[in-house]
Amino acid sequence: MNCPHHIRIFDSKPHSYRDLPVRLAEFGTVYRWEQSGELGGMTRVRCFTQDDAHLFVTPEQLDHEIQGCLELVKIVLGTLRMDDYRVRVSLRDPASDKYVGDPANWERAENALRAAARSLGKPFTEELGEAAFYGPKIDFVVKDVIGREWQLGTVQVDYNLPERFNLSYIGPDNEKHRPVMIHRAPFGSMERFVGVLIEHFAGHFPVWLAPEQVRVLPISEKFNDWAEAVFKRLRAEGVRATVDLASDKVGAKIRLAQLAKVPYMLILGAKEEEQQAVSVRHRHSGDLGLQPLDEFVLRITREISERALDHAG
Ligand code: ZN
Repeated sequence: MNCPHHIRIFDSKPHSYRDLPVRLAEFGTVYRWEQSGELGGMTRVRCFTQDDAHLFVTPEQLDHEIQGCLELVKIVLGTLRMDDYRVRVSLRDPASDKYVGDPANWERAENALRAAARSLGKPFTEELGEAAFYGPKIDFVVKDVIGREWQLGTVQVDYNLPERFNLSYIGPDNEKHRPVMIHRAPFGSMERFVGVLIEHFAGHFPVWLAPEQVRVLPISEKFNDWAEAVFKRLRAEGVRATVDLASDKVGAKIRLAQLAKVPYMLILGAKEEEQQAVSVRHRHSGDLGLQPLDEFVLRITREISERALDHAG
């Protein structure tokens, strides 16, 4: 885990309340020795990348910062239209004494998490006794296309580590105060997230995410020059394009591109070359007809910058 490292960075110099919140984030490699029977694809691995961050905040800033973390997770899931999720608020078991920290702080943290969860407008459950011993947390539990639930993003409030590491900041009263820590990971594990994402889209990534966004397909080698020109233009515009100059029939090239789930295929022959145009084929909606190259470039670059999902999904 990265928590202690971020703590040491925070603690490497004195802080005034005016410096807070301090937010440290990194994509860090972490390891977990899962039993071999529990390993699965990309969703449960032994070495993974956590989008880990730690926020050092004053108690007064806690509500606002938690809200910000949840908004961030919401943006991540919303952009990918992974809208089918619930929020789990893990609270302490009032009957147990395993929890560290001041009960008043717990109360405050739990209320802040509850209020933040409610504000998301998504179903949420409160689970007593599920909190870590050092603080309550919120998990985002996302349902994939075949109905399995995955715990992805998480936001955790921590009163314990600041205590253990004796962290402090100087308040307006010139006295030392203890900050509160928030651990947050909007994606959770990048490996697990991408694994769920591949299944969520069944491999049909939206254009902005597709590793190959456009494949240029000349119908014969006579049109290779125009195909190269189109390809270069697309690359210059930042589009992840490839060109298929094989001598196969165009039907076979289309089939290959379709199998590779490439969102757009551009079919080029005499008419297209003459008019400086491209015949556009979409993996779902099929033939979209002849378009001037400039128009297609405009269309795809807009789709990419807007992070649009497939219109014909
Ligand atoms: Zn942490």
